[in-house]
Amino acid sequence: MSNNKESGTGMDDAGNSGGVKTAMEGQNKPRRRRRRPAAKPVLEESVVAVEKASPGTLHVKRQNGGKRAPLSTAEGEKPQTSEEGAVAKASGKKPARAADTLRMIPLGGMCEIGKNMFVYEYGQDMILVDCGISFPDEAMPGIDVVIPDFAYVLDNIDRLRGIFITHGHEDHIGALPWLLRTVKATVYGSGMSMALVKQKVEDRETGVKGVNLVTVKDGDRIRAGCFEVEFIHSNHSIADANVLAIRTPAGTVLHTGDFKIDYTPLDGRIMDLGRIAEIGAEGVLLLVCESTNVENPGASSSETKVGEALSSLFQQAEGRIFVTTFSSNVFRIQQIFTAAEKQKRKVVLVGRSMLKYYEAADSLGYVKHKPETLVEINKASKIAPNELVYITTGSQGEPLSALTRMANAEHRQIEIRKGDMVILSSSAIPGNEKSIYRVINELYRKGARVIYKSLAEIHVSGHACQEELKTIHTLVKPRFFVPCHGEYRHLYRHAQLAVGLGMPQENVHILSNGDVFEYSKKRQQARIAGAVHTSAVLIDGSGMLGELDRHILRDRLLLAEDGVVSVALAINRKTGALVGQPEIQARGFYYNSERDRIVKECQHKIRDIVKKAEEAGKRVETLLKGDSLNYQLEQLLQARTKRRPVLIISVIEV
Ligand SMILES: [Zn+2]
Ligand SMILES: [Zn+2]
Repeated sequence: MSNNKESGTGMDDAGNSGGVKTAMEGQNKPRRRRRRPAAKPVLEESVVAVEKASPGTLHVKRQNGGKRAPLSTAEGEKPQTSEEGAVAKASGKKPARAADTLRMIPLGGMCEIGKNMFVYEYGQDMILVDCGISFPDEAMPGIDVVIPDFAYVLDNIDRLRGIFITHGHEDHIGALPWLLRTVKATVYGSGMSMALVKQKVEDRETGVKGVNLVTVKDGDRIRAGCFEVEFIHSNHSIADANVLAIRTPAGTVLHTGDFKIDYTPLDGRIMDLGRIAEIGAEGVLLLVCESTNVENPGASSSETKVGEALSSLFQQAEGRIFVTTFSSNVFRIQQIFTAAEKQKRKVVLVGRSMLKYYEAADSLGYVKHKPETLVEINKASKIAPNELVYITTGSQGEPLSALTRMANAEHRQIEIRKGDMVILSSSAIPGNEKSIYRVINELYRKGARVIYKSLAEIHVSGHACQEELKTIHTLVKPRFFVPCHGEYRHLYRHAQLAVGLGMPQENVHILSNGDVFEYSKKRQQARIAGAVHTSAVLIDGSGMLGELDRHILRDRLLLAEDGVVSVALAINRKTGALVGQPEIQARGFYYNSERDRIVKECQHKIRDIVKKAEEAGKRVETLLKGDSLNYQLEQLLQARTKRRPVLIISVIEV
């Protein structure tokens, strides 16, 4: 979550009120960015609750001819990545739809890891696969989450036949509450996915009424218009992940979702490679496959390996044990329970999202332990230290997470002390390293023994590495391939991997969000047929920011860098003459030592400018129009301080 919410800057956001005319300047200059991002909350393999961001109704303005105004942010910011056969983007225009064509349009999840959302269309039918969120980057201060642009879905709402979920990670289901507020559609997914979606739709803040959720089993086939979607079991760092086989009149699409191939998964349910091979033998038109770990050679390790490492560490521990992990990883939680029971230790769950995921997994019977093993946090103080294991949130060093607060002695019930063992059974999501190391430093300072990363095999990834990807490509033998779930470099490397396995280059397409992959049954050809308007929609505490509100972000960045200076002039309504001294106030701009000098110089400058205007017979307001007052004051401030604050000038008539 963003931790830079601040109030009390006293700044009115460029709004005009009463007799105060306000001009703002400084929004349009390119700026350096110096801000350090807060620890990125966990997308994959865990979730940080989206507390502040409760979904509001989509406010979609209807414009001329009922055409929908885009909800999204500015165009032209992402790199053009369509490859061979790409047609120039016709953003905003609906590409023409032929009756016999299959279309796949990613609304998110391309050239990024996050906010996965895919549209599949054929004739008069449309289905969606996944509807996830991503988290803001350092250029989005005050933003809580980012969701896909639903404009295309809303434009074609009458054709929507269902929403299909591959698995329950936030980057695949997190944006559903926002979509379901506006869109009435049935959501299909596995047990764990639907348990988590149910929590969302029943949540007090994010809740939506009257949503139809259908829980499917492995092997189920759901008809949705002309589509038939089959759920195939796969392995991932969350229970009940599925590969989707989407049958269409033009051919079969295999949409992998996130997966790894685990030959010794904890629950014994190996990814259904047999079924995937059968479908491959029937013939697959298009493979849409995740790319997260495509840079890693070899294969991912099995989840069961972690259990062995945890058990041997637990044996060595003499005091309390703390394990932090991605709270959505039920298998990991299970292994911690198992290792704890072996050592006759009790388990305490700490942190809201830990409890949330445990609850979902427990409702499905996925965590097996003796009832007396789980104890509540307030009972733990009566138990001997060497009989306790805490499973806690905070694997990414998130400032508000339980582990960070324990390390900083800010947690209400628990403080880390000498003799504790702390195991970080997780990997750092890129960008979070500093926050994690800060926590580790603190843990060492408190006297704990800390086990992380290279010190033991205490974490395995949930995503397929090169050899696993090759297995899928080889079993599926698709005619066309679109890599997804990766930054551009991942997509590129995955395309290379496919070509290396013998796929013709022209059958591999790297897409950007919004690109329309189209396959004509009649012509038996695929192409990228333009693009639909899509971009990130930013959500902050109060609701949704759209395209028009992008300036708010720009101002937040400027304020963070150089602060704000406000200048108020009082002028005589009749004569237009300056009344008294211009009042100058600033926040985050000047140092105490410079203050008097800068204020005096500004006042002097303003008097000068106003006097010249008066002599030329111009009223003071006209100085605001031409920006000349703004410009000259800014020049002065920059010359004296080398800083360029947001400048607000108000003229009050008295
Ligand atoms: Zn994912
Ligand atoms: Zn995932």
